[in-house]
Amino acid sequence: MAELLVVGTLALDNVKTPFGAVHDALGGSATYFAYAASFFTRVRLVAVVGRDFPQAHLDLLAGRGVDLGGVQLAEGPTFRWTGEYGYDLNEARTLDTQLGVLADFHPVFPDHFRRSPFVFLANVDPEIQLDLLRRIERPRLVALDTMNYWITGKREALRRVLAEADALLVNDAEARMLTEEPSLVKAVRTILGYGPRVVVVKRGEYGVLMAADGRFFFTPAFPLESVFDPTGAGDTFAGGFMGVLAHADRVDDETLRRAVVYGSVMASFAVEDFSLNRLTRLTEAEIEERFGAFREMMRLGH
Ligand code: AMP
Repeated sequence: MAELLVVGTLALDNVKTPFGAVHDALGGSATYFAYAASFFTRVRLVAVVGRDFPQAHLDLLAGRGVDLGGVQLAEGPTFRWTGEYGYDLNEARTLDTQLGVLADFHPVFPDHFRRSPFVFLANVDPEIQLDLLRRIERPRLVALDTMNYWITGKREALRRVLAEADALLVNDAEARMLTEEPSLVKAVRTILGYGPRVVVVKRGEYGVLMAADGRFFFTPAFPLESVFDPTGAGDTFAGGFMGVLAHADRVDDETLRRAVVYGSVMASFAVEDFSLNRLTRLTEAEIEERFGAFREMMRLGH
């Protein structure tokens, strides 16, 4: 089992879906990621919060064994995101983004974090992603996520992170926006030209497409009857995906395929309730049961 380091946001979210709404709920790319990954491996977290961030949220992550040595407490408000979804739950509409303490965040972390074989640069300012990369020893695998907010606002910095990364995880709209390429397959090829050897495109309820070392792998999403709140699905997927790679301490074809399926399993739980509510009730037995159901669903006949 290898250590997995993540930098990203710890956030307070306001989310509205056709099925309800929450205010100041626990969210953030690193939150969902770390919580999901903690089922598979040892996680180290680098992030910043303001004094308005409830201690109970940090206790939740500490309770999962997440090393919070890289979480800074800063003067100012915690990062806040306000978004909503229509009946097409595949796309979030961002109504407001308040960077707060994220605006001048420089990652600071204990020395042992510098040697982390697996690193995930969760959705956050690409300048922060670069800042972190520059101050650690070269990991075995660096993966990153991003979103439209940074693709339009910080394209140059994002391309510099991509040049140093081994894997990119994005949704289909982001892949098209990043490459200005309407064909998803062409968009993936273009991204491979930017640096990473693995590209994972998340397509919401339609599943995941992965290109790795010249091969494509495609899976459906777990067929859920009701999706309650898709917020965090991408980050939770990433947590399962990277958690499996770090647990196995390998990045070969077989492990990558298992990682995509475990990522999809984790994401399928996250969307069953608001915030991290479903994840905090989740057991390892439920994860294994759904992995088994997934495998059965994808079985090919003779
Ligand atoms: P996902 O639905 O997996 O793409 O991620 C949702 C989470 O991302 C929410 O909990 C937000 O707090 C967080 N988030 C939203 N916008 C940003 C942003 N611009 N940078 C970093 N994190 C964000």
